[in-house]
Order: sequence, then structure tokens, then C-alpha cells
Amino acid sequence: MLKDEDRIFTNIYGMKDRSLRGAQARGHWDGTAGLIERGRDWIIEEMKSSGLRGRGGAGFPTGLKWSFMPKESDGRPAYLVVNADESEPGTCKDREIMRHDPHTLIEGCLIASFAMNAHACYIYIRGEYIREREALQIAIDEAYDAGLVGPNAAGSGWDFDLYLVHGAGAYICGEETALLESLEGKKGMPRMKPPFPAGAGLYGCPTTVNNVESIAVVPTILRRGGSWFAGFGRPNNAGTKLFAISGHVNNPCVVEEEMSIPFRELIDKHCGGIRGGWENLKAVIPGGSSVPLLPASTMDEAIMDFDWLREHQSGLGTAAVIVMDQSTDIIKAIWRLSAFYKHESCGQCTPCREGAGWMMRVMDRLVKGDAAVEEIDMLLEVTKQVEGHTICALGDAAAWPIQGLIRHFRDEIEDRIRTKRVPVAAE
Ligand code: NAD
Ligand code: SF4
Repeated sequence: MLKDEDRIFTNIYGMKDRSLRGAQARGHWDGTAGLIERGRDWIIEEMKSSGLRGRGGAGFPTGLKWSFMPKESDGRPAYLVVNADESEPGTCKDREIMRHDPHTLIEGCLIASFAMNAHACYIYIRGEYIREREALQIAIDEAYDAGLVGPNAAGSGWDFDLYLVHGAGAYICGEETALLESLEGKKGMPRMKPPFPAGAGLYGCPTTVNNVESIAVVPTILRRGGSWFAGFGRPNNAGTKLFAISGHVNNPCVVEEEMSIPFRELIDKHCGGIRGGWENLKAVIPGGSSVPLLPASTMDEAIMDFDWLREHQSGLGTAAVIVMDQSTDIIKAIWRLSAFYKHESCGQCTPCREGAGWMMRVMDRLVKGDAAVEEIDMLLEVTKQVEGHTICALGDAAAWPIQGLIRHFRDEIEDRIRTKRVPVAAE
């Protein structure tokens, strides 16, 4: 169980002064130049030993990703790009960092950019995050005024510029290569990978794209040591983590907890339990809408980390925990996600463009029970044709929630088809 003194985000609820002065009083920007003086290799090794896995959803090891950047410049500039396009349904953790604890992100940008040999960093923020953009821009301006960003940033000898770029509200621009296209002023459509951004990223230059939370934890990890961070959670699932818990709990919240915390403990300790009691729990989407749901029976013993959830055919994703109680029309809940993915598909590749529409239209009928039982397997087959056959992960994200629904709630779909009884809330 995480103690208060182990929390990295000291102002996640906005109860304290978020200005530079307040941030410094809480320990941010403390000895930043000294960390940079220890050199790139030390920073990257420390990040590797911390075991930090990317907090944007995919969980790729951060230190390893950094090590893919060229050690020496080949004449091209290098860039750090921070993905603040937080759009995954259920996910609202980076928002809290940007509006309440922005200086830990800015300090992280400087240190990570130095480690990446990058003199410029772009933060690409979600179009709908207007207040967050304002709060972050104020903090960036403060950092410039104080000499923490700009020439000889924080007295480190490293010249560093930080730019905040506002997206226009497309979910697909959170996919890292679509984000790069958008930054370049083009339509946000994912690129084929490889090449990965470290080889050819922004303007064809070496680039690392990291999530807000991944960068915001860097200064504290370096100050306290990689082994400190690695001491939380289970092996391969290290650290502290922001969980965003929404839906049918008594107190929805964003909270920093130890990775690998049992689901029951997370909900009882921070959310006051399930609405109507634990016996009222029906299903949980444990990691944002892109991962398959799990039924209450599985969640009883669930461990909230990458490996446990993957072993149980779901995922930690963005750690956006969507809790659904017995009152939920589970078919309609997943239909809603199908409609979302169909709407957000960029249309570039056929399985996603056509498949997302197919899946949504079948789901549309399943909600009303207006289908044949055999169509459940046909729908499953369509999800398998989409999964793994697309340029980016949006295709998988459209397929997986439906697979989870069929895997765990086939009886309920069949019952809906047989009886045509639609719960009142679903009409
Ligand atoms: P991915 O696994 O393809 O890549 C993850 C990261 O690792 C990327 O930065 C990629 O460049 C890097 N990487 C992977 N393999 C590599 C290799 N062989 N060499 C070098 N670098 C490599 O996943 P993704 O498409 O970036 O992300 C998918 C996840 O995004 C989903 O699981 C979902 O949870 C999450 N997501 C998050 C949001 C949000 O709002 N935060 C929105 C949508 C989706
Ligand atoms: Fe676009 Fe969908 Fe293909 Fe991704 S999978 S590139 S969103 S069409």
C-alpha cells in the first residue's frame, strides 16, 4: 500500500499552489542541473533500472525506448514529443497532472530532452483540454521567466525550448505517428511502423514520443533512484501509477497507487466501494476502452498491472478503470464503444474502415435483439479479421471490446435475441 510520502504527484487534487513557487516548495526543480550533469548514459540507465513502462497504454519500457535514440547527432536535430492527446474513453489522469502539477511535467521534459540529445520538445495537447492548455502554458511561461527553460536551462548548460501545440479534437491524433503528422501540419493519419520514431519521427528526424505521466515521473525517479521506483509493484510491473476510476463506484477519482494493487483494495480504499455493494458489480473495463472487459467473477481476484490483466485476456492500458454495476446494459455499453471507434477511424486501411462500420451495425441490432443467434459468431469472426490487420492499434481497439463482450456475456446476447427484451435504460 502506497504511503503519502511515496507519491510523486503532490498536487493531483489541486489543493495546493500549482505555481512555480508552490512546485518548488514541494521539491520540484530541486537540483535539476545536477541530474543533467550526471550525463545521458546515467539518466537512461537509471530509467531502465526503474522498470518504468510507458504510461500511455502500451507499456513499452521507457528507458529502452530512450536508448533507441542516436547517441551522436548525424546532422539531424532530435526531438522529444510529449503525447498529451489523452482521449481514450475513461482516461483523465494526464489532465490532472497538466492542470494541477504542471511543473513536474516541464522539468521532466527538460531532463528527458537532454537525455535524447534534443534541444526542442513539443507537447501535443488534446483539443478539448482548453483549461489544461492554459494552466500548462502559464507554467511554461513561468519556467521561461525563471530561466528553467530556454538558453542554459536551469543552469545546466543545455539550451532547451518547449512548445505547447493544441490538437483539434481527433482521437486518432493520440496515435504517435498520426500525432507527428498532425504536428507537421498534415492530416492526422498513422504511418506504417517500422520505421519507429527513433529512426524517422518528426520531420524525418530522430524522435521519442512519450506519454505525459511517463515524463512527469522522471525527475522524481532520478532524484530518488531507479531502484526506489522499482521497489513498488511486482517484477516487470514496477512503480507507482495513476488510476482513473469512473462509473458505478461511490466516489469516482484519479489516484496514485502502487502498481499491482488488488482491484478490490483500489476500489474500497479510494472509491468507497461499488455502488450498491460488491455483489452489485457486473463488469469492469480495467484499462480504458481499448481493452476487453472482465466480469465481476474475474475482478474479484484481479491484480491491477500489465501482466496479470494480459494473462486474463484484458490489459492495464491507460489504467482507466470503468466500473459497471448490475443496472448496466452491457450490450449497449459495448455498442457505444463500437460507435465511437467507427466515428474515429481515420479510414486509411480497409479492415478498420469497413470493419468498424460492420461491427457497429451488427452491435446496433444486437442491442435490440434484432439478429439471429448465428450472427454472434459471425461478428466474432469479423473482429478477428480486423484484429492485427491494420496500420495502427485503433483496429484492435475496435475489435477487442466486442470480443470481451462475447467471451463473457454471450448468454446475455442470446437472451436478448430470444426475448427481444431491452432494458428500459437501453431504449
Ligand atoms: P505500440 O505497442 O505499437 O507502441 C508502444 C510504443 O513503443 C511506441 O512509442 C512505439 O514506437 C514503441 N515501440 C514498440 N515496438 C517498438 C520497436 N520494436 N522498436 C522501437 N520502438 C517500439 O502501441 P501504440 O499503438 O503506441 O499504443 C497502443 C496503446 O495506446 C493501446 O494499448 C491503448 O491502451 C493506448 N491508448 C491510449 C490512449 C490515451 O488517451 N492515452 C488513447 C488510445 C490508445
Ligand atoms: Fe486509420 Fe483505422 Fe487504419 Fe488506424 S487502423 S490507420 S485508424 S483506418
